[in-house]
Amino acid sequence: MNAEIISIGTELLMGELTDTNASWIAGRLPALGIRLQQVSIIDDDLPKLTEAFRRGMERSDMIFTTGGLGPTQDDLTREAVAAALEETPTVQEDELENLRQWFRNRGQDMPAHNVKQAHLIPSAQFITNRNGTAPGWWAEKDGKHIIIMPGPPGENRAMWQDEIDARLKTLVDSEVTITRNIKTLGLGEASVDEIISEYFGLENPYLGIYSKADGIHLRIIARAMDEESAREMIAPVETAIHERLAPYIWGYDDETPELSVGAALTARGMTLATMESVSGGFLANTITEAPDSNRWYRGGSVAYTADAIIAAGVAPDVLAKHGVVSQPAANAMALAARIATNADFGLGVTGVLGPEEFEGHRPGTIHIAICHGENVHEFPLRTPPRRLVIKRRSCNTALTELRKLITEVAP
Ligand code: AMP
Ligand code: MG
Repeated sequence: MNAEIISIGTELLMGELTDTNASWIAGRLPALGIRLQQVSIIDDDLPKLTEAFRRGMERSDMIFTTGGLGPTQDDLTREAVAAALEETPTVQEDELENLRQWFRNRGQDMPAHNVKQAHLIPSAQFITNRNGTAPGWWAEKDGKHIIIMPGPPGENRAMWQDEIDARLKTLVDSEVTITRNIKTLGLGEASVDEIISEYFGLENPYLGIYSKADGIHLRIIARAMDEESAREMIAPVETAIHERLAPYIWGYDDETPELSVGAALTARGMTLATMESVSGGFLANTITEAPDSNRWYRGGSVAYTADAIIAAGVAPDVLAKHGVVSQPAANAMALAARIATNADFGLGVTGVLGPEEFEGHRPGTIHIAICHGENVHEFPLRTPPRRLVIKRRSCNTALTELRKLITEVAP
C-alpha cells in the first residue's frame, strides 16, 4: 500500500510550528508495510485542501492528515474531505452527546461552535479522541482510505495507539519491513559511499546513507512476506558493511554514543571519569542522558581556563610548555580525571570554541585523550568552527572512540 501524509495548518507554512506529526507518523509506517511516498503541508484553505485530497486519492491508497479539526471557522479539514468525496456532512446525535458530556465532565457548557466536530459523512466513521474534543474520521471510498486526525500530538498519537494502528494491521497484507541501522564515525559520507557502493541503488533491500551529528549512519531496509525472510535479505549487506567498515562502526539501531559506552562499561564492571574544557559540560551532560550512567560514570569537571585545569589536577608545566590547546594538555586532563576518582577510563577534551583564535589555533581545533591505566590514546580532531558543532562533534568522537577502545583493551 502507498500512503501520503498531509499536514494541515497555516501556522506550519508560516514557520511558526514544526511539523513533528508527519515524521512521527512516517516512523510508524514501515513496520506496517505501508510505503510512504509523499508528505505535504497545506494551508487551512478549502479549495487547496479539497484539491489536495482529490489528487491524493488518485495517487495514494491512503492519506493521513493531522490538523484543522478544531471547532473554529479556520479549521476546514472535514469540509475538504466531504467536498473531495462529494458528500454532505450531517450532525451525529450520539457524537454530539459525547461532546456535551466531555464539557459537562469539566463543569462547562459546550460552545455552539463545537457542534461542527460531531459532523460526519456517510463513507466515514469516527475515531475516538480520548484526549480532546475533536474526533478523527476514517473515510473509505473506492478502496481508498482517508484518515484525518487532530493536530495536537497528544491527541493523534493516542488515537493511533488506541485504534488506527490495529485497524491498519488488518488492512495491509502481511508484508513486513525490517530496518537495520549501522552507525559509523571517522569516515566522511563520500568515503563510506565509495567503500560499499555496489549496494546502493537496489530497491529491496534498500541501503540508505545519512550524515548525522554522531557520524555516518547506514540504514538497510528489507521488505518481505515475513520477518525471517526480511532478515535474510539484510544479512549479506550487513556482513559486507562489517567486513569493510568494522573499525569505524560504533553502534546499531537506536543506540546513542552514551548508551553504547554505558553498555560496554557495565558489561565489564568498569567506570569512566572526564575533564572537559571546550565542550563546556556537553560531554558530562550527554553521558548522563544514559539512564544507567550512575553505574559507570564517576563524574567529571568542566575546567574552562588554565587555572581551573591546574586546580583539577593537571601539572602547571604541561600547560606552560604546550599550551591549553594541545594534545599533552588533553592527555594530562584524562589522567588527572581518572586518578581523581579512581576510574578505569579517563577522558580529556580541550580545544578552541571561538569565535576568536586561541593560542594561535583556529576554532574547531580539538584534542581528545582517553587513558586506561597509564596508557593514553590520542585523538586530535578538526571540526567546522561553529560552537554547537564543536561541542557535539568533540563529545561524539570522544564517546565513540572510547567505545571502540573498551573492546580493544578489555575484549
Ligand atoms: P489544529 O488541529 O490545526 O487546530 O492544530 C491544533 C494544534 O496542534 C496546533 O496549534 C499545534 O500545537 C498542533 N499541531 C498541529 N499540526 C501539527 C503538526 N503537523 N506537527 C506538530 N504539531 C501540530
Ligand atoms: Mg489549525
